[in-house]
Amino acid sequence: MVKVKVAVNGYGTIGKRVADAVAMQDDMEIIGIAKTRPNFEAAMAQKKGYNIYTLPASLSAFKEAGMPTAGTVEEMVRNADVVVDCTPGGMGEANKALYEKAGTKAIWQGGEDHELAGCSFNANSNYENALGRDFVRVVSCNTTGLCRVISPLDKAFGIKKVRVTLLRRAADPGDIKHGPINAIVPSPIKLPSHHGPDVKTVLPHIDIATTAVKLPTTLMHLHTINMEFNGECTAKDVEDVLAKQPRIRFVGQGITSTAEAMELARDMLRPRSDMWENCIWNESISMYEGELYFFQAIHQESDVIPENVDAIRAMMELEKDADRSIAKTNKAMGF
Ligand code: NAD
Repeated sequence: MVKVKVAVNGYGTIGKRVADAVAMQDDMEIIGIAKTRPNFEAAMAQKKGYNIYTLPASLSAFKEAGMPTAGTVEEMVRNADVVVDCTPGGMGEANKALYEKAGTKAIWQGGEDHELAGCSFNANSNYENALGRDFVRVVSCNTTGLCRVISPLDKAFGIKKVRVTLLRRAADPGDIKHGPINAIVPSPIKLPSHHGPDVKTVLPHIDIATTAVKLPTTLMHLHTINMEFNGECTAKDVEDVLAKQPRIRFVGQGITSTAEAMELARDMLRPRSDMWENCIWNESISMYEGELYFFQAIHQESDVIPENVDAIRAMMELEKDADRSIAKTNKAMGF
């Protein structure tokens, strides 16, 4: 089988995970990753056998560090069928001209605006919208986590409205620049937050409003979700629908916090201790005066990774059916 050639531009938290997930699939391969500095992450990429590309201005730094490069980012883009742009939020936009010039398809992440790609993606919500497209944006970790529950519950019962409070991690574990380390920060102060409109880039018909605060933790986001439905349903009906979703994990058995959910991922020997699924406390799923409430935790570093694999498959039309792509990705990654 001829494999789709995938390049990863920006090899940080998301980029290195996307590269490894793509490398696990039998219908696509990594032809290169782009790094700006010859640091430990570049050394690990080299050890894994990935070709390293860099910006023209950084070629000499790699040479001085004794780390061979395969060429410039522009050359990498020309060699690829699809580039997954995982540069820091807001920086990917500047790369669009490069991708267009090379005629290479591109995927951006949630840190970019919807308008950049014109198609915001979540595999089980709107896979078909990405079929054959040149540009797609995989939505953020929070939006991915919300779409994964809103979409199937809307299909099953018809959602009247969704209200969510997002308790956000302050920084990723390897990040030494962000905070707070001792405060709770309304983020943003202006309400409602941008997360609701972001869900609407995938599911435009959903009435959703969100608020968000940042907390001094690196271990996951936590969502408090409240929904009203057009149709009648019980907490058990909701639990039954969520139980069937391929990227939802029910947690219990003494897991009462995000710390313990991440400990479970470590105990499962997941790569980098990743928890790709939404972790929902099924014990929290409750109906009160006709409205649904529940808690879910989202591993910000990893829930979007399988979505990037599905986006590649849709754009390259390797698989027309969302459920089959999701199942294939999950199996190859070892869900
Ligand atoms: P990151 O800072 O961890 O990684 C970005 C990488 O890109 C770094 O290695 C950086 O050196 C490199 N880089 C910077 N400029 C570059 C350039 N011009 N060319 C090539 N590489 C360059 O960032 P991240 O957390 O992986 O975020 C990437 C994207 O994913 C953003 O849009 C972000 O919003 C989104 N995202 C992040 C998370 C998360 O929790 N970290 C979750 C979901 C989505």
